[in-house]
Amino acid sequence: MLLVDVHAHLDFPHFSKDLKEVVERARNAGVAAIISQGVHHASNKRTLALAAKYDIVRPALGLYPLNARNVEVHDEEDDDFDRHSVSVDDTLKFIREHAKEIVAIGEVGIDLKFSDDEQHQVNNFTRILQLSNAIKRPVIIHSRKAEKLVLDILEDGKHERAVLHCFSGGKKLIRRAVELGYPLTVTSNANRLQHFQLVARTVPTRQLLTETDAPYLSPVAGERNEPANVKTAVEVIAKEKELTPDEAARLVYMNYQRLFL
Ligand SMILES: [Zn+2]
Repeated sequence: MLLVDVHAHLDFPHFSKDLKEVVERARNAGVAAIISQGVHHASNKRTLALAAKYDIVRPALGLYPLNARNVEVHDEEDDDFDRHSVSVDDTLKFIREHAKEIVAIGEVGIDLKFSDDEQHQVNNFTRILQLSNAIKRPVIIHSRKAEKLVLDILEDGKHERAVLHCFSGGKKLIRRAVELGYPLTVTSNANRLQHFQLVARTVPTRQLLTETDAPYLSPVAGERNEPANVKTAVEVIAKEKELTPDEAARLVYMNYQRLFL
């Protein structure tokens, strides 16, 4: 089976001890490409290094909305001081300088769950969309508690190349995203999350992608996730679309190729 994981965080400390085995298990499961997402400058640098080391790892460089220096975060568990060490300007400059090496700009977007600093986030996101156009790379978008806002911005700017990662908007917003032409992902925990079964059912096959968001969104609650588990997302798509898993995997892979290669 030919699989693709368009959103994972292989540079996160969760994988520091056994990444080699994690990548091997993905390869053995049929995963041909894992798009690993940078979330701030240090993470972007680590992501480029991983992509140079592992042939199936493709780099996306980004700036997670809550990691931008001018965004005020209200998440008490957050202790990552590293992320604020480089400014938004310098982070975007670094992405531009490495444009030829990357398949996408991600992870980027807007998060209004852990911050209400909406205007700053919108400003940064708008700049990132301009960068996406300038370097001709798609954006991979996080839109927690900001699903409608993100669609409004994309529509207003007539932005073409965007993937909606882990999109949690309701049926109406899913339909609107589909009409605007954006691909949506089905996640590896879709086996236990009805919302992503709804995504698999509602979104036309041509606009579906698969992701793990590893180390998060495991098919087994509480476990560390890894790209090999992207198979679960394909199985959910197969079930909802009445396809064989092989057929579903092939269609998703074609979508990946059209968007990213
Ligand atoms: Zn992510």
